[in-house]
Amino acid sequence: MSASAPVDLRNWIRDIPDFPKPGIQFKDITPLLGHAEAFRTSIDLLEAEFRHKGIEVIAAAEARGFIFGAPLAMKMNAGFVPIRKPGKLPYATIAQEYALEYGNDRLEVHSDALAPGRRVLLIDDVLATGGTMCACRDLVRSTGADLVACAFVIELSFLGGRSKLEPCEIFSLVTY
Ligand code: AMP
Repeated sequence: MSASAPVDLRNWIRDIPDFPKPGIQFKDITPLLGHAEAFRTSIDLLEAEFRHKGIEVIAAAEARGFIFGAPLAMKMNAGFVPIRKPGKLPYATIAQEYALEYGNDRLEVHSDALAPGRRVLLIDDVLATGGTMCACRDLVRSTGADLVACAFVIELSFLGGRSKLEPCEIFSLVTY
């Protein structure tokens, strides 16, 4: 087998200025998703980090968290739990409100999806201000499950999300 250079994930993340509104530099992961080796590398690196941490469940918020969470769960032989916007889940739910720039939003999870002691890894594509992941963290903890870590493909360190999530373990593949 010939040796090949490892994929640099940064080469597959595209900056879109002023999306979805002026002043936001959007990190577009669609080039990474569309490149088989880059996508596989992102999942492989996440799996390598958490392989020995006894993860039983991967939980992720829609929509882009699902894209990484589902293949990671398959590779880690873990279950997958979707965290969704209000009104999307069909069974009884528990909910967590969180603040947006303007107003509030809510995330929901099925009330029987997690149980006390279950070892959970949360994943999302981007850690920005941390509001979304803090709501996911609080949802997971409210079930009594054991939140092992929060993982991200991209961390925007200048937005300070990490300090909101600490002391929870945080792992990011690419930091800006
Ligand atoms: P936050 O709650 O501020 O940490 O935002 C995290 C969520 O918003 C993630 O689910 C991302 O998909 C999305 N997001 C926030 N900022 C960006 C950005 N600059 N580029 C791409 N996605 C972002």
